Amino acid sequence: MNLDLHFPPRQKLAFLPTPLHEMRRLREAVGGPALFIKRDDLTGLALGGNKTRKLEYLIGDALSQGCDTVITSGAAQSNHCRQTAAAAAACGMSCHLSLGGNAPDTPRGNLLLNHLLGAGIHHAGNSRKGEQVPELATNLEAAGHRPYTIPYGGSNAIGALGYVAAVLELHSQLRESGIAPTHVVFASSSGGMHAGLRAGAAILGANYEIIGIAIDKEQGPDGLSLGQRIDKVTGEVLDLLLPETTERPETPPTILNDSYLGEGYGVVADPERDAIKTLAANEGILLDPVYTGRAFAGLLDMIRSGQFKKDDHILFWHTGGAPALFATDFA
Ligand SMILES: *Cc1c(COP(=O)(O)O)cnc(C)c1O
Repeated sequence: MNLDLHFPPRQKLAFLPTPLHEMRRLREAVGGPALFIKRDDLTGLALGGNKTRKLEYLIGDALSQGCDTVITSGAAQSNHCRQTAAAAAACGMSCHLSLGGNAPDTPRGNLLLNHLLGAGIHHAGNSRKGEQVPELATNLEAAGHRPYTIPYGGSNAIGALGYVAAVLELHSQLRESGIAPTHVVFASSSGGMHAGLRAGAAILGANYEIIGIAIDKEQGPDGLSLGQRIDKVTGEVLDLLLPETTERPETPPTILNDSYLGEGYGVVADPERDAIKTLAANEGILLDPVYTGRAFAGLLDMIRSGQFKKDDHILFWHTGGAPALFATDFA
């Protein structure tokens, strides 16, 4: 499809393109289809991850509005919050984080990194999806700052643009390498990446299946289920990118596999531990305990239970998160 796309301002934060490569040893160990990995754990900003791509557009938008402060929210070990703190530091902005849980005696993992990156940290107890953020914004405004609020996970249409751009990047790598995935599998949690991938695939007329492994079954403060949010944001991204008069391309379905939610968000169990060890021991690649460990456990289970054909080509999109390994018990 030859479309006129209107990308809004983008602040460079990531080292792109991220690598795309085959995982031959893993395939030998597991059997089944050909396996590839797209390394968004290597986007580079303060240990990387998928939020860096979203932040290029979110921070671009904040700066174009003259804001000097960013506020966002997430779980205590949020990778999104850590990458937001780093993006703000890199752009000379202040950053305030509303984080689930209470202040531990010794901050570890992403929480430690948030301190090092100079973010203001506000512990929010049971709320990890930004319930306290409006009040925080009002207080910062009253103190003379110009805050820009990023929703938890950076999952609005502006953030999702980062994954439309990522699909353009992927397709240029696919053309160069001759790799032709039949399925793209990744961890889906606040839905922005999933929405961006669908919108990008729609624009380019991609024919692979886009399969999100659901990580978190709890609704966000918007009251939408994950599937509903993905659909809503996908439509909004296409509206942002395409002129009103352009006919909307056919959008691939929202495929969410919610078989691997386990005991809930962030509860690490045997499937996550096994998946992390399997990829580490066969390919030297580190997953994280909350998102990619769970999604990869799901992918391994789907392969082992015969849900793919032998001649399928599966691309696992690594979304980062390894700092949380250092806040997890692996005994
Ligand atoms: C945030 C995150 C995801 C999920 O991305 P969403 O756009 O929120 O669905 C997956 N993996 C990691 C490591 C993350 O930090």
